[in-house]
Amino acid sequence: MDFSLSADHKEFQEWIRGFASRDLDPGISEADRNCRFDKKILARMGELGILGHCLPEKYNGGGLDYISLGLASEELEYTDTAYREILSVHIALFCLPLLSWGTDELKNSYLPKCAAGEKIGCFGLTEPDAGSDVVGIQSHARREGGHYILNGQKMWISLADVADYFIVFAWTDLEKKKARDHSGMSAFLLERCDPGISTGSIHGKLGVRAGNTGWVSMDDVKIPADRLVGNEGEGFKIAMFGIDQGRYTVAAGSAGLIRACLDSSVKYAKERHTFKVPTGRHQLVKQMIAGMVESYEITRLLYLKAGWMKNEGLRCTLETSIAKRFACEAAEKSASNAVQIHGAYGFSDEYPVERHFRNCKAAQIYEGAREIHTIIQADYALGLREDKPLRRNLPPWPFER
Ligand SMILES: Cc1cc2nc3c(=O)[nH]c(=O)nc-3n(C[C@H](O)[C@H](O)[C@H](O)COP(=O)(O)OP(=O)(O)OC[C@H]3O[C@@H](n4cnc5c(N)ncnc54)[C@H](O)[C@@H]3O)c2cc1C
Repeated sequence: MDFSLSADHKEFQEWIRGFASRDLDPGISEADRNCRFDKKILARMGELGILGHCLPEKYNGGGLDYISLGLASEELEYTDTAYREILSVHIALFCLPLLSWGTDELKNSYLPKCAAGEKIGCFGLTEPDAGSDVVGIQSHARREGGHYILNGQKMWISLADVADYFIVFAWTDLEKKKARDHSGMSAFLLERCDPGISTGSIHGKLGVRAGNTGWVSMDDVKIPADRLVGNEGEGFKIAMFGIDQGRYTVAAGSAGLIRACLDSSVKYAKERHTFKVPTGRHQLVKQMIAGMVESYEITRLLYLKAGWMKNEGLRCTLETSIAKRFACEAAEKSASNAVQIHGAYGFSDEYPVERHFRNCKAAQIYEGAREIHTIIQADYALGLREDKPLRRNLPPWPFER
């Protein structure tokens, strides 16, 4: 067993940390305050190869492994959740399902542009009346000759208003919809230019204000039948597969958020004096800092284990769920304590910890809410749930050339 990062991982980690501190840190406070998603950041990330770093070289990707995806997620969320979310959505929720489930034609025509960052993908599962209860979605698609016609509404979709491509989930079998049988659901690839698609942004969010979250409306969207992803009836499996990858990046990102809270708290606790000593000398403050140290270490080990399993081609739905749930709970506690350590100043946007405190809440809701992960983990333990073999899997790393 080897717990150390390879020289390549360390080099990549240092490089992406440098990118975040140079290109992202300086503008984040203002972007968050003004609730502004800066599209230039996407262009810059594309230019540097970050938007395809862990996709196979044959699709124009950087050929790095899944651990690198975790490291990148951690480093981007150290600055802000909005930047990590770009990787979660574009790479984990859009590109990896397409890489694993798409036909060669779909992969060849969509992945290279995504890997280069010329086109951005997003993932539309949630609807106004259905989030955790996936089979409660109402969107549907009917086949007409060589086409599908899609109708429905998607809500709370990250990057909805900036993405070029959308993987969306809809019922293709209405009898199965009535019976709540998820094998009647299918996945489709839509393009922004498809007639009948409209999108908008959601305003008034608690956090992730520098990110884009929106809605997608499908009004008789007619697409060629070959834009079905996977087979008809595999949509639910593809959605869960995508979320498995997304959750991994959420867990890794939370490690970055915890580390950001820890660093800010340590600095402040050394500078701020109360009762004639730095606040870091008080045992109750030390206790909060120790909690963050421990949370960071455990979160990091959990996400790296899941990343390693992905590299090896091992199914890790349970391990990813554990990493995600633990990480999000630990992030919320760390961010809350970081605000506490900063006292009144932590309650203002003079320090980044208030932003982290607002941001971390979203991760307890998306990619499987906290309660859903509790149920998943208990069900594995109770023998009520087991991994069934999938027709397609995440390609192990190193990728085939
Ligand atoms: C910032 C942000 C970005 C998002 N991005 C995306 C995206 O890119 N794509 C996408 O498809 N979706 C996205 N979502 C939506 C997200 O996945 C859903 O919000 C999530 O699945 C929860 O669904 P819901 O909000 O409808 O809550 P509900 O499902 O209505 O649940 C409400 C509460 O009840 C609890 N609950 C529900 N069922 C049970 C149960 N059986 N037992 C115990 N408790 C239960 C939940 O845990 C939750 O606490 C995003 C959400 C946010 C906030």
